[in-house]
Amino acid sequence: MTARMHPSWRQAAFAAAALLAAGCGSVDRGTPVAGAPVACAGLASVVPAGTRLVLSETVPAGEIQLTGVQPGAPGSKAPVPAHCHVQGKIAERTGIDGKPYAIGFDLRMPADWNGRFFFQGGGGTDGTLRDAVGQLTGGGNTGNALMQGYAVVFTDTGHLDEPGPDGPYRFGLDPQARLDNGYNSMAQTGRVAKALIAAHYAKPPGRSYFVGCSNGGRQAMMMAQRYPDMFDGVIASAPAYRVPLASVQAVYDTQLYARAAAENALAADGRPVLSAAFSPADMKLLTTEVLNRCDALDGLKDGIVDNWPACRFTPEALRCTGAKTAQCLTGTQVDALSKSFAGPRDANGRAIYSDWTFDAGLHSTEWTRWKFGDARGAVPNARNITLMTGALAMVFSTPPTVTADFYGHALGYDVARDSAKVSAVDATFPLSAMQWEVPDSPDVDAFARHGGKMLFFHGVSDPVFSVKDTVRYLDRLRERYGERTDGMARLFTVPGMAHCSGGPATDQYDGLSALVNWVEKGQPPERIVARARPENRDVTTPGRTRPLCPWPKQSRYRGSGSIEDAASFGCN
Ligand code: CA
Repeated sequence: MTARMHPSWRQAAFAAAALLAAGCGSVDRGTPVAGAPVACAGLASVVPAGTRLVLSETVPAGEIQLTGVQPGAPGSKAPVPAHCHVQGKIAERTGIDGKPYAIGFDLRMPADWNGRFFFQGGGGTDGTLRDAVGQLTGGGNTGNALMQGYAVVFTDTGHLDEPGPDGPYRFGLDPQARLDNGYNSMAQTGRVAKALIAAHYAKPPGRSYFVGCSNGGRQAMMMAQRYPDMFDGVIASAPAYRVPLASVQAVYDTQLYARAAAENALAADGRPVLSAAFSPADMKLLTTEVLNRCDALDGLKDGIVDNWPACRFTPEALRCTGAKTAQCLTGTQVDALSKSFAGPRDANGRAIYSDWTFDAGLHSTEWTRWKFGDARGAVPNARNITLMTGALAMVFSTPPTVTADFYGHALGYDVARDSAKVSAVDATFPLSAMQWEVPDSPDVDAFARHGGKMLFFHGVSDPVFSVKDTVRYLDRLRERYGERTDGMARLFTVPGMAHCSGGPATDQYDGLSALVNWVEKGQPPERIVARARPENRDVTTPGRTRPLCPWPKQSRYRGSGSIEDAASFGCN
């Protein structure tokens, strides 16, 4: 193991041991291809048809500044080994909007290769060509797959963000750009990357993995379902697998929380100041009450609701009987929470997306940032508005609504009526978002035949995608495959964790080693040790470790030993 690791990783001996066990071996399965290895500078001459390299360079071991991350911000730099770095464009074309499009990719191939391929999933609506260093799942994982010897690729998914608030979503006006974003760019990038890897090392990758969170988690599910032979294992964290519907939920939430905000603050334009919907103290009151009701259901009062499926919390208990005080929530606040957590319904009364669970992380900065934001003015900066509403209006709806006023769009959206647009088609857009964006099929026969493994993670306090919706997908797999499901798909829920990371949770864990051990050694993950990071400001028990357990098992205290140590807990 030559990888340099972040201090927090060095402290996490359990994680380092796991990396040593799985991450640093090499895999030797690929059949050598004819011809000598092609040096980095020569790769432009061997690219597959329809692909053009725009960069090839050898990069020495050291540290690189990451694209799209503010210099100086935490995680703005990444360690890299000596590697060959190429960037290229696939299927360059002009869209129906007259703009240039291409599937851009960034591929990094380490000099000391472990024989494996790692596809780094994207996020949001993509549109930025990030550095393919092999970002890992969970919080605070500044180690990366490239350092572990993987060849890593990343794609911008077929478009680049344009400037302006609506710039990231303008690609939604081009039908092919929608399909590229939904599935095609990952398939094309995977195909080209494998060809370049085979040429550079004179040997194809022995094993291939797709790892992503949020939209990257959706991409992982997409690859397993639509391109079942391309990857041997995937990690789908907090998967955005029904994101058009989750975006409807986001708009619904904005309407509910705007009503609560209207009681507290109106901006000069008369619209509610969304960030005033709940004070930080209100949210802390809510999660304190959740813990009062549900923490001990797992047998141990430790600030973690392990038995969240049994938690029957309702915010009604907090409804003010008189004026608002620090010990209660207004009727409008309680109604907003109750309706939001029940989920929106269509004109026929059917659930549009999902219900949600009340958990201990609802006061976390990550949760409130998505729902309310912290802007005090007329334009909210909640991610539900700046990302989810923009994507719903311009990318997921047919026909698209072109707007830069996402807050206005959310407030004026008719949830029961307008949500049908995510399933609509027309002459310009012959496929709906539910067709090109949503990998929700329980049919993974081909992936299973190939021996593929799917590893899911999901924070119980995720504000964007409901953990219950991911459970629902696992339930559908179980309906189809019965006990065989455990041999191909496992879900690890993380109580207290927000979206991908954060929240009062043990959010630092090594999912990649668990997946690699499963795929290459046939050892399915029975428990994955996770740690509460001291640098996570939502954490009140720094250094605590817990086992994450495969659904439907839950972490349980054995009755003796330190409650800060995972060794004192089993998966029951
Ligand atoms: Ca507990």
